[in-house]
Amino acid sequence: MNTPGNDNELSLAVLERALARVPGYAAWKPLDPGPGVPVDRRYAALPVLTKQNLRDHFPRGFVDPGRDPEAALAAGEIEYAKTSGSTDDQVTLLFHAPWWEASERSAWQLNAVARRVATGAHREVVLASPRCVGPGYSERAQTVAQRTLGRHLYINEKINPATWTDDDVRRMADELATYEPVVLEADAAYLAAFARRLRALGQAAYQPALIFLTYSFPSRVYLRLIRSVFAAPVASSYGSTETGHVFLQCEAGRLHQNVEHCRVDFEPFRPEHGGPALGRMLVTVFHNPWFEVLRFDIGDVARRDDRGPCPCGRTGGLTLASIDGRIKDVTFTPGGRAVTVDSLDRALAAIEGLCGWQLDRGTPDEYRLRVLTEDGAADRVVRAAQTVLASVYGGKAHLAVAAAPALEHELSGKFRFARAAFAVDHCVLWDGAHPTD
Ligand SMILES: [Zn+2]
Repeated sequence: MNTPGNDNELSLAVLERALARVPGYAAWKPLDPGPGVPVDRRYAALPVLTKQNLRDHFPRGFVDPGRDPEAALAAGEIEYAKTSGSTDDQVTLLFHAPWWEASERSAWQLNAVARRVATGAHREVVLASPRCVGPGYSERAQTVAQRTLGRHLYINEKINPATWTDDDVRRMADELATYEPVVLEADAAYLAAFARRLRALGQAAYQPALIFLTYSFPSRVYLRLIRSVFAAPVASSYGSTETGHVFLQCEAGRLHQNVEHCRVDFEPFRPEHGGPALGRMLVTVFHNPWFEVLRFDIGDVARRDDRGPCPCGRTGGLTLASIDGRIKDVTFTPGGRAVTVDSLDRALAAIEGLCGWQLDRGTPDEYRLRVLTEDGAADRVVRAAQTVLASVYGGKAHLAVAAAPALEHELSGKFRFARAAFAVDHCVLWDGAHPTD
């Protein structure tokens, strides 16, 4: 399917450069129908770039051969960066900070508040897993100075919010108030837990001008907790270490493509699995001199916006209604119907007192839901969640719901919404033989 709104000139330049020069794409070249064919069709004829491809050809496979990574690493022009996935999908990359910052600056133009308050010199506090961002995880407490990098202060030092003591929560609240950030950037799971604990302690929260949610799917139950404490507008910022900033949610709530920075090819799911509104996204990066990224499978479910022009007036590129969770977190009913993280979240979020959820599957017909609840609400939430699961997965499924003191985190400190202990072939979601990672 053609995805409208991509910059054709930049798309063509990066395609021809990569196919002509970059070793990681040598095997793709014979598949290119070549000049004379519209650029969208040339892209559509090519395979998908996976994390496995990146690992197989690191470090020189996706760098223009005229460049010398060793010299640039020694000079500090680039650095190694590990993506924050779990062990099986973690990738080491060559990271060029000026490219990342440029992609961030162009994304800020896609939200009116960000455009006004994000100057590039503004202070930001980050609340996320210390294994995803910041100076690196340390067993021992680090000082504010050790956790301040440039204009960013990283306030969290622990891997799972369930391990925060009351003193940890007070320290983070104090640091937030003292630093007075313009922007608070957070993993929604961590910020929701922080909001809940602040409320329990009766502690006031410093109010930033804008909150960016990134790193993971912003569950409705997390948003509810965040909004009970923080008054600032909340915008989802979407991208990855491989691709930079790909979408930003505008002030009207839709996600707009960062067209100056990247091309997005939308591949619809099969109709029985939510297509053509739902699909996956293949991202091509335009301006990274140290990493040529073509048709990278970014791994999330996207929902195209079909409501007509966005009230914000932005028309460039692809507009999404939402990102509906990780593709690998899509579950299937015993009858084989796909259930996205978003659709399960929508059903569960109607339960009052639910503070977090996570689905584990030991076998294909087993669905075990772990829930976090408000104090005193556990029994009621468990019963209500059991009813929701039965309505989503049907009577043939083996369903169990239990309240727990904590969700289970990945090695990275992120939280997955649905995990299976068996192999799941998510390629059934779309047509064609393109593998995913
Ligand atoms: Zn908009």
